[in-house]
Amino acid sequence: MVTAASFTSPSVQVKNPNTGEVVGQVPDLGAADVDQAIARARGASRRWGAFDHAQRRRDLGAFRRGLAQAAEALATLIHLENGKPKTDAMAEVLLAIQHLSHAAARAPEVLSTRTVSSGLMANFKSTVSYHPLGVIGVIGPWNYPIFTPMGSIAYALAAGNAVVFKPSELTPLVALEVGRIAAETLSVPDLLQVVTGRGATGAALARGAVDKIAFTGSPATGRRVMQAAAERLTPVLLELGGKDPMIVLPDADLDKAAEAAVWGSMSNAGQACVSIERCYVHASIYDRFVDKVVAEAQGVTFGYEGAHIGAITLPAQVDIIKKHLTDAADKGAKFLVGGPDKMQGNVVPPTVMVDVTHDMLVMKEETFGPILPILKVPDSEEALRLANQTSYGLGAAIFGKAHVRELAERIVSGMTTINTVLAFGSVPGLPFGGIGESGFGRIHGDEGLREFSRTKSVVEQRFAIPGMNVFTFKLPANAYEQFKGMAEKLYGSAVLDKASEVLKKLHLR
Ligand code: NAD
Repeated sequence: MVTAASFTSPSVQVKNPNTGEVVGQVPDLGAADVDQAIARARGASRRWGAFDHAQRRRDLGAFRRGLAQAAEALATLIHLENGKPKTDAMAEVLLAIQHLSHAAARAPEVLSTRTVSSGLMANFKSTVSYHPLGVIGVIGPWNYPIFTPMGSIAYALAAGNAVVFKPSELTPLVALEVGRIAAETLSVPDLLQVVTGRGATGAALARGAVDKIAFTGSPATGRRVMQAAAERLTPVLLELGGKDPMIVLPDADLDKAAEAAVWGSMSNAGQACVSIERCYVHASIYDRFVDKVVAEAQGVTFGYEGAHIGAITLPAQVDIIKKHLTDAADKGAKFLVGGPDKMQGNVVPPTVMVDVTHDMLVMKEETFGPILPILKVPDSEEALRLANQTSYGLGAAIFGKAHVRELAERIVSGMTTINTVLAFGSVPGLPFGGIGESGFGRIHGDEGLREFSRTKSVVEQRFAIPGMNVFTFKLPANAYEQFKGMAEKLYGSAVLDKASEVLKKLHLR
């Protein structure tokens, strides 16, 4: 773990976004410090990688208990440096620990060696095994400073890797506390190290001798990370932004949908990659839905202690939000709650807007504020067409009854909720990630464990079948005719279905 004694670089001040008060100071580590952390992690990964799943699970259990016992301290740090309410911070801590618990429990089964069908080669045994990659570099954002990175860290550790974690410069304090607890509870030193600093520290990690980079942040930085990693051909996993749509159908429970739309767009002051950022509502229920949303949004309190939402964490984001709202106002949007003229410093009040169009920034680019633009649509097909009209593809939500499952499959996104919002991140078994500008790769779930594993294929000849060895130059004279006959007989008729059943039984016996 990085301590004040171990750094020579300048420092980064951490400020409470609500009060402007300095709440901490951490090292702004340079490339040499990052390289040293990676080298230490390399040693740790060898020891940890040699553990069996039961040993790792015991260690991760101790880490999990350490985090749970420190839940209050962790939530307080998040509250101070990110600015979100304490309750939200505690929910984040709980969900982060849930992921650690889930990853540790699932790893033995998901990463155990499995036998697969050998196809035509009935005399072969084919297996797939999973091995640790080595050292994983995790670069995290500030909006969920422990929940989001833990979605990579937990699965990387459970898969047998060491981790070097670079938290956002806005929220490094909770990360250092997680690193301290890891050092106290894990039996392998340097298994989880935290390297604090600004963007250059992250860039050093992306360029470093790691075996994979798991990055969560903006698409712009994601591109830079991928370019830096390309030098060593380091694989990358990118969890980027979103412009998540919500669709409300005529048979939706409107009270439930309105409450969810407001919470989904405004919780954490709208600073979630999976926030509801656009809402498409069927014309037949539009007026009633909008009235309910306005009433809900008027009940959302904003400010500091005790409020539902706090200040905007990243000062530069305030300018983006203002730009989006002003652009929408200029193009004819109507503000029913809040509006650009109601913004004060880094406090953005809950905002509900209608009469929006797809040529407005607020419908195209990530706004990352407590903003809900609502658009009336004539039918569900138009809602779907507009929902899919985006360069992103992270999450989505649908409210209704009759056709919701079918529509959920047709929304082009990595994840979709039905009659609820944002819930995919809280279900540890569900793979989390997007497509398009929302990135690629999956954290969480079984896919998350395999993301941080090296897949190894082994095929073994169990016995020889005379005249049936195709991996030789000594083929029988009629081999051509034999192969042709097999192609026709096996794949040219329904016999294949029967044959593959027989082969499957042979292989998996
Ligand atoms: P950001 O891209 O500004 O920063 C993310 C991290 O990258 C920080 O730790 C930062 O210091 C580091 N960084 C900056 N420049 C770097 C560089 N050149 N090389 C390597 N690292 C560098 O993003 P942010 O503002 O912290 O986070 C907000 C963004 O993250 C939003 O777009 C949000 O949607 C996204 N996000 C996505 C998910 C998801 O899972 N898809 C989750 C949370 C946040």
